[in-house]
Amino acid sequence: MNFANQQITYVFVLYGIVVLIPFFIFCKMKPEILSAWKVDLKNKKDTKTHEVKTTVSSFFVLYGVLLLAGLFRDNGILTFKENLPDWYYVLSFPLVVILHDTYFYWTHFLMHKSKFLFQFHKDHHIGHDATPLDVYAFHPIEAFVHFIFFLIYPLIIPSSLATMQFMFIWMLVCNSAGHLSYEFYPKYLYDFPIIKQFNTATHHLMHHKFYNSNFSLYYNWWDRWMGTNHKDYFETYQNIKKETEIKARIKDKMEIDLSAIN
Ligand SMILES: [Zn+2]
Ligand SMILES: [Zn+2]
Repeated sequence: MNFANQQITYVFVLYGIVVLIPFFIFCKMKPEILSAWKVDLKNKKDTKTHEVKTTVSSFFVLYGVLLLAGLFRDNGILTFKENLPDWYYVLSFPLVVILHDTYFYWTHFLMHKSKFLFQFHKDHHIGHDATPLDVYAFHPIEAFVHFIFFLIYPLIIPSSLATMQFMFIWMLVCNSAGHLSYEFYPKYLYDFPIIKQFNTATHHLMHHKFYNSNFSLYYNWWDRWMGTNHKDYFETYQNIKKETEIKARIKDKMEIDLSAIN
């Protein structure tokens, strides 16, 4: 199997596990046991047909980028480094995550700030009520902007294929979790300085609702430095966690009452 076919097969399997299974569990089955964690920002709009169409076109774009990567590889332009020192392997993952976070923030920020560029990003915002199906719901040009990072990066910075694949998994997991409409990030963890650097699901759900704030992906750094966090983000997050606690307590109490009756 050639390089592009091999990589796209991995992506299909990964997409099934990380996107489709959570979509059916959390957005279709909506298990009662997890209802306390559901976030409802009242963004109702069913856009699944649009999400499926844009996702299919994004897969074609990804396949095109993978074909290009395969061509570069065959011609010696792209070489994945497999004999790197151990310390480099360890550091290469946080490095690629931090640089991808920066790339994502600025491309996303610019797509919102320029009217011309927003026409290529608005496809992602048609799904107001975010679901994991939004992770690849992109206009083909936006899809190209996102996927080309995974080709440019190893051309500039020595990287193993495993690092890039692991990065792709990490991106898809974080993206799927950010579109889940469930807030599983525990309140007490958010009080720790290191953990506090991570974005929550609430952060991206508010981006879908309010558009012009909360542009970052993994970490909250760029939004803090650039002052682009929504003014009510932290308060909304705290309120959602309080609601979750209350709903969980009510649910526990109802279960205790019911077992007493039975
Ligand atoms: Zn989104
Ligand atoms: Zn956006």
